[in-house]
Amino acid sequence: MNNITFTILGSSSGFPQPDRNSAGYVVSHGPALVLIDCGGGVTSSFMRAGFDPLAVDHVVITHTHPDHCCEIPLFIQLQHLAGRVRPLTIHVPEEFVAPLKAFLPSVYIIAERFQFDMTILGYTGGTVFEEPLHISAHPNEHLEGYADDIQRLDLSNKMQCHSLVIQGDSARIVHSADLSSFEELRRLLKRGDDLVIVESTHIDITDFLSFAGSNPQTTYLITHLGDVRAVEELQGRIDKTGLENVQLAKDGMSIPVTA
Ligand SMILES: [Zn+2]
Ligand SMILES: [Zn+2]
Repeated sequence: MNNITFTILGSSSGFPQPDRNSAGYVVSHGPALVLIDCGGGVTSSFMRAGFDPLAVDHVVITHTHPDHCCEIPLFIQLQHLAGRVRPLTIHVPEEFVAPLKAFLPSVYIIAERFQFDMTILGYTGGTVFEEPLHISAHPNEHLEGYADDIQRLDLSNKMQCHSLVIQGDSARIVHSADLSSFEELRRLLKRGDDLVIVESTHIDITDFLSFAGSNPQTTYLITHLGDVRAVEELQGRIDKTGLENVQLAKDGMSIPVTA
């Protein structure tokens, strides 16, 4: 059985912070790595953590806010410069496939020059891929507040944002991505989940903490954090509950999911 570890490359909210990178996570399954989201600073953070770029065959982007996807071109450039020959698949919300393919050549990311096959695949929900881990996407309402702008400006955006369920041999991880409410995440959670990654910016923390208190066997990691003051306040609220299964994310932090 391959051990699974979850590593935080970036734990900041959409408001970039001096001491945290934007959203990015690595799930390692034995020697295989999956990169989830690729916000600002994530590529450097990936290298700082000592990961091998060539061990990543799949990248999954939860949604296209800049703090989750702005370093995709840099991560592809890293793959090229690291000498990649194995295929690389970048899974993005279906609405982003055409814009990303159109954008990459403008920053001189030209797939025809690479020695590896790069595929940009769109998803809208359900299974994203099955190996080395089974990852499924679950649409949430995080981007629905843009509906009026999209209609008024006649944009092609479809407001696609997804939480992810990551299933390994004997481990289940739920990654919230950004949400519109904690209720959206709660629907995906199961008793006995090993690890739940919860974004803190758009949810009711009181609701969340009371849920975490009634599921002591699960580890909850709070990420997507604001400035130092906001983090201190959040830590104070966690400390008050006395919960030992709730932690605040830090860049570079690694959590073993299977022993
Ligand atoms: Zn975000
Ligand atoms: Zn977002």
